[in-house]
Amino acid sequence: MISFKEAKSIIQGKIFKLDSEVVPLDRSMGRIIFEDVIATFPSPRFNNSAMDGFAVRSSDIIGASKRNPITLINIGISSAGVPSDLILNEGECMQCMTGAKIPSGSDAIVMVEHTTGFSDDPNVQIMIEVQPESHIRKRGEEIQKGDKLISKGTQIAPSEIGICATFGYGELNVSKKPKIAIFGTGNELVEPGENLKEGEIYNSNLYVFSDLVGKAGGEVLMQDVLKDNKSYLESFLSEALKSCDVVISSGGVSMGRFDYVRDVFIDLGVEEHFWKVAQKPGRPLFFGTGNKTLIIGLPGNPVSSYIGFMIWVWPVLENMMGKKGSKPLTGTLTKSFPRESVKKRFLFGNAWIENGELVCCPASKVGSHMLTSALEANSILCAEPGDGILDAGDKILINVLPWKTIS
Ligand code: AMP
Ligand code: MG
Repeated sequence: MISFKEAKSIIQGKIFKLDSEVVPLDRSMGRIIFEDVIATFPSPRFNNSAMDGFAVRSSDIIGASKRNPITLINIGISSAGVPSDLILNEGECMQCMTGAKIPSGSDAIVMVEHTTGFSDDPNVQIMIEVQPESHIRKRGEEIQKGDKLISKGTQIAPSEIGICATFGYGELNVSKKPKIAIFGTGNELVEPGENLKEGEIYNSNLYVFSDLVGKAGGEVLMQDVLKDNKSYLESFLSEALKSCDVVISSGGVSMGRFDYVRDVFIDLGVEEHFWKVAQKPGRPLFFGTGNKTLIIGLPGNPVSSYIGFMIWVWPVLENMMGKKGSKPLTGTLTKSFPRESVKKRFLFGNAWIENGELVCCPASKVGSHMLTSALEANSILCAEPGDGILDAGDKILINVLPWKTIS
């Protein structure tokens, strides 16, 4: 059995970075940006109006008010997408709509509300004086050409896709998705929807894995539930080692008489880096490599499998795509937590804000076969090894599940 830290650093040493691929912008959601996104032009791109109104020369309307309107001559219209070439001379104005280019010669916009309005009458009365640059969005005031907009390693979400569209990127260079094989093992496993015979249970782990792979940004290429039979395992695995970046299994890596997964990995030439880690749940945790493919064998108990995926597999997938991982938070326990003397202890739990402080409590069901403990959880709580239980009031690490929020 090796320490959690040692196991992490062994895996870290074997992770390889995936190549990039170009995807159309409308297919880039959720993907990881492979290189910095740079502004190829300033924003705003040109001086434009922030209001529907009249472009004026501010010096023409000094002292204008409701009581003392100043009349200007309207010489045309500048609208969004249809700029005017005309140049404003003294005593002139131009209708200028929101987003429209500011005509040459003018230095400010008067809101239409402070005028006699848009009409075909060339005489326009201005009833307010304005400072130079009023209601003008200046070229480059938000972003300069060459500025970094988004750092590589960022996941595309609504803000990022909006910015990429704003700056005209029709396609993006993103990390390829890790290709994943997932399999479960066990003669007892039956697919949901089918009838159970004596001693059988439903396969739940692969449903969890399949969703987690997608959420982490990977793509499931191969998926199967295999009997505890060496030849089934061999044929699935030898194919997975050829085509996938990561192979993730559930079950069959413990000390049971029919736990063949580790034997088959080794028979197929997989190099074992470790097999047992000082953690609970999930002490039997296999990690090996076959050529470049990373192989992570998680135990079968549903809570061990799920937590094992989040603690071991999820960061690997993020890292392969160049995504920065999130750090755990620290919160205060509202109930005791069963700390272990030499193992890191994980439990599903809930974290929330109380009186401005981050607090949390572990799920009430602690068995690694009790998947209902995940239902109400928004986090995985983690206690470092130590003597005795952690009490209410003690601090603990909180890994918020990436698709959950704290409230
Ligand atoms: P194992 O690691 O194969 O010894 O399995 C440990 C426990 O997890 C056993 O009770 C199995 O029946 C259960 N188990 C294994 N695989 C799955 C699965 N895919 N879905 C639900 N439970 C499973
Ligand atoms: Mg089994």
